[in-house]
Amino acid sequence: MSEALATLSKPVVLVVEDEAALAMMLRYNLEKQGFRVEEAADGPEALMRIEEQPPDLVLLDWMLPVMSGLEVCRQLRWRSETRHLPVIMVTARTEDQDTIRGLNSGADDYITKPFNMDALVARIRALLRRSNMAPAKGQLSFADMTIDLEAHRVRRNGRAIHLGPTEFRLLAYLMQNPQRVFSREELLNAVWGHDIHVEPRTVDVHVRRLRKAINSEGERDIVRTVRSAGYALDTEPI
Ligand code: CA
Repeated sequence: MSEALATLSKPVVLVVEDEAALAMMLRYNLEKQGFRVEEAADGPEALMRIEEQPPDLVLLDWMLPVMSGLEVCRQLRWRSETRHLPVIMVTARTEDQDTIRGLNSGADDYITKPFNMDALVARIRALLRRSNMAPAKGQLSFADMTIDLEAHRVRRNGRAIHLGPTEFRLLAYLMQNPQRVFSREELLNAVWGHDIHVEPRTVDVHVRRLRKAINSEGERDIVRTVRSAGYALDTEPI
């Protein structure tokens, strides 16, 4: 895999932390674990970065200057674009009351300082998996395709498309993250679930079925095969 493609498919974690030494330690360890790390030193900077380029997950310190982590989290939940953004709150407080307030503000999980790096990485991976597997609600569109996640209806150019359950989940997942390149392993985790043992080649079989179902004659193939990297939903051929 080329470096550019490898970077593209890495999950992005935004670390919101005002202690420079801790931020540096987190960056070092998370990058070592295969994540891409963005940083923000306070709440307003975090909100600005998220608006510009939403990460896959936010690691949010509770005690921040200017605006508390709680307030940042509330604002994220208040905006429709960031309502479902996975957030792990990092807190030095251990009182149950505070933990409850943190979760009420909409954080998906929390971890108490000082934390063990392995435990944190495990929480991050678990949350990413949960958020990837729980499809967004409502309707998604990409190019001339629309998918209704609740009614399980797919249309392209106005015509109804019938998909098997696996192809439906595969398309739903790709449509939630258009133009992002996914490796076969990532698609397996997201669509089949990480506990099920399936050969990566199975993904190719279902992508082939999906293509056959959604592309009719003269239409552009919107599933892009990225050599040795995986697949993406895209209107531009590579
Ligand atoms: Ca802090």
